Order: sequence, then structure tokens, then C-alpha cells
Amino acid sequence: MDISLKDPSLLRSAMLIGGQWVQADSGETLDVRNPANDALIARVPKGGAAETRRAIEAAERALPAWRATLAKERSAILRRLYDLMIENIDDLALLITSEQGKPLAEGRGEVLYAASFIEWFAEEAKRINGEIIPQNLPGRRILVQKAPVGVFAAITPWNFPAAMITRKAGPGWAAGCTGVIKPASQTPLTALALGALAERAGLPAGVCNVVTGSAGAIGGELTANPTVRKLSFTGSTEIGALLLEQCAPTIKRTSMELGGNAPFIVFDDADLEGAIRAAMMAKYRNSGQSCIGANRFLVQSGIHDAFVARLAEETAKLTVGEGTTEGVAIGPLIDAAAVAKVEEHIADAVSKGATIAAGGARHALGGSFFEPTVLSGVPRNALIFAEETFGPVAPVFRFDTEEEAIALANDTPFGLAAYVCARDAGRIFRVVEGLEFGMVGVNEGLISTEVAPFGGVKASGLGREGAHVGIEEYLETKYVALGGI
Ligand code: ADP
Repeated sequence: MDISLKDPSLLRSAMLIGGQWVQADSGETLDVRNPANDALIARVPKGGAAETRRAIEAAERALPAWRATLAKERSAILRRLYDLMIENIDDLALLITSEQGKPLAEGRGEVLYAASFIEWFAEEAKRINGEIIPQNLPGRRILVQKAPVGVFAAITPWNFPAAMITRKAGPGWAAGCTGVIKPASQTPLTALALGALAERAGLPAGVCNVVTGSAGAIGGELTANPTVRKLSFTGSTEIGALLLEQCAPTIKRTSMELGGNAPFIVFDDADLEGAIRAAMMAKYRNSGQSCIGANRFLVQSGIHDAFVARLAEETAKLTVGEGTTEGVAIGPLIDAAAVAKVEEHIADAVSKGATIAAGGARHALGGSFFEPTVLSGVPRNALIFAEETFGPVAPVFRFDTEEEAIALANDTPFGLAAYVCARDAGRIFRVVEGLEFGMVGVNEGLISTEVAPFGGVKASGLGREGAHVGIEEYLETKYVALGGI
């Protein structure tokens, strides 16, 4: 087991249920491996429906007391959790890099981003205001109160093992909800470490439960159990649709942050170097394994050749390697299936006439390392236009007019993030207004922040995370018609 933490007690190989660290009923475990070298890092319990049910019951037992705490008290506990995350940033970043593969600097960046949601919602906890509406009848008062939805479930993916948890659990706990977290099987260690820190911060037993193991069995219980009133999921559209279906019989509130197919549009009047900086960020962060990662570069004819040349040049400078090695910009992909998809997308594009301007193949390091790749002259019938690659491949498509760019950008069932590089203010507004996406970066390649609402339209999901609306997703509205006074 090749990981050495400053605080070894953050490496947990048990689930957190009702304040107890427990194994699976069956005693079975799942191996957690480092995608950079396939080394075994730890074994975590392979929990299923029964353990999940107990976690839900623990959350239900903890709910009345947690819901009744003053917002100020919840806020103080969450603030302590934020402080603990920052104090333990080295260990958390190393856990993320070890089980997920991203460069350590990005792991640290993720811890800061993850912690920012806890800080933000610690503050928002105190601003859950109701409303008094002018009465419609004499002698009556109309009050609107906000109340926590109850027990929530959070099912999270492997690409951001810390941030996807805090973006859900942060507002949940701040609102007065208790919950059950189910991390991706590839990245349970970060989630368990967060569970340990949540305990240390003073979250009472049962407020934070973390179950690891069989996605189908755990997800089945989380969605079917009527005690769970809210499900927040980040992952593929396919699994999101399945979970929505499973939530339908018990009419749960849901937030769904699903797949994307982000266009990155560069107009002739864009600042070339600014566009390249934004493109490098939007494309290669996390080796392209981000749901808001640029997936289709749409570049206007006048700037096309210069953009391709500079993008290829910068891409070729990126160092590929293990995330713990100094100076590495591109870590391994999560697994062999991810590499196969990248290879399939490149082969398909090339077979339809695209040319490789940088990279294009598996990296000499072997395993799931892949060369960051730029493709130009990609035809619109290429698979990579229609599907999310989730890897370090930048396919460039050429266009001529603004209308064409908007039509191409919107020609996808997805609508999460889009990027636009241009200087003309009129054009920027027209294009932003024409884009059917939940988030648009204008001359910006890094748009994620806890202060802004994150989420998509169309097949990219339902609801928003972060910002003030992020906490609304965990609140019910109760209207009181108060008469006889
Ligand atoms: P990814 O491609 O990011 O792995 P998935 O949608 O497959 O996306 O998985 C995201 C999360 O959903 C992970 O935690 C995974 O374990 C979980 N998951 C996958 N299948 C199911 C399922 N049938 N029910 C519940 N959760 C699932």
C-alpha cells in the first residue's frame, strides 16, 4: 500500500454509518488502485442495500436534532470542517492524486475548490430567509417558511472525488439536512477522509454517512427508500436517467449534473493568445476528464490556422506522467476503457479525414497514459462531435459565420458549459444569448466557482449547485395562511 499521509488516520478502509466505522456485512472489499501504476492503495468495504438502509436510518435518527440546531451552530461546525480541509490539504491532495491520477497541483486546487463550498454554505446557512406576503384577505397573514427537505443522498463521480461531495453535502448540511454519500468505486478514499474530517469538525453522528461498494445495490436503496427525500447525482446522463426513473415512485427531489459536450468557439476577432490560454485550461484540466471540459473547438476561418498551430505548439509542451511527479500537467486517464474511448474517437476522426496536429497515440509510459492530442480538419460527422470524449483530445472544426457557430454549438443533446472567445461586445451578447447551455465562459477557460450557479440544460441535467440557489435545492417551501389573529 503505497501512500504515506502526514496524518495516517485519514486513510480509512471502513464505511461511516451512524458515527461508527464499519465493514460490509459480507466482509467483502473492493480494491482501490492508483491509475498511474495500478498499485493497490487500500481496500474498502463492498457495502450493499442492507448497509445503505442502516445509513439512511442513521441519517433519519440524526435529522430532528440537526434540523433543530441554530443556523449559527451549523455554520460554525461547517466552518471548522473548512478549516480542517485546509489544514489537511496535503493529505487530501495526495489521496485525490493517488486514487484519481490528476497532477498533485490540481489535487490541491481541487481541495481548495471543495473546501470553498463548505465555507460558502457555512455562510449561506445563516441566510435561509422566509417571506411575509401582503395578505389577500383582511385579518390574515401569509408566511412562507423554508425547511430542510430531510435526508439527502449524494452519488458522486471519480473525476472530482472531493469537490463533487462538498458541492452537494455542504448545502445539504447547511440547510439542516442529514445525508448518505456514495462515492464512485474508483475514488472512495477521499470521501472517507472527508467523513473523518466531518466527524472531527463536530458533525453529530448520522449527519454524514459514507457508504462504499456496489453502485447498483447502494443506488437502488438510496432511490427506492422513501426516507430519502432528495437525491443529488453527478455522473453520466445514462445513469442519471436511470436514477430519475428509480426516484419516480417515491417522488424525490433531484439534482442531476450530467454529461456535457462543451463547444469552445473562437471568432476571428478573438485575442489569439488569450484564447489559447483559455483553451488549454478548458481542455486539459484533469486530462480532459471534466464534464465542463471543452470537447469541440469551433474556430472561425480567419483565425483557424493560427489557432491550430498555437494550440498544437502549447499542447506538445505538456508533460505527461504520474501526478506526484513535479511539473506533470497530464496524469493518467482513469482506466483502460477511458483510453479505448479516446483511441476510438481519434481513429474515427482520422478515418473521416482529420489530421493529427499534436499527439495522437498512447504515451510511451504505457498504462492509461495518453498523449495530449490536437486534431484539425475534423468533419462534423465524426463521433467526437456527437459524444463526450472525456480525455485529452482537442478536435478543431472550422466555421464561417456567427449563425453557423451557434447552430453547430447547439447541435447536441447536451447543454452544460460553452466557451466563447471574441472581443466584439455585440457579438458576445448575441452568441451567449443563442447558446443553449447552463454556463458560458467568455474569454475564460476556468469557470467553476462556489459563488456561481453550476448546472446544465437539456440532457446535461436538472438543478444548480453552488451560489445561493445551491442551498435552495435542499429546502422545502411551507406556506402558512395565518388567520384568526
Ligand atoms: P462515470 O462515467 O463518471 O463513472 P457513472 O454515471 O457511471 O459515471 O457513475 C457516476 C456515479 O454513479 C458513480 O458513483 C457510480 O458508482 C454511480 N453509479 C453507476 N451506476 C449506478 C447505478 N446503477 N445506480 C446508482 N449509482 C450508480
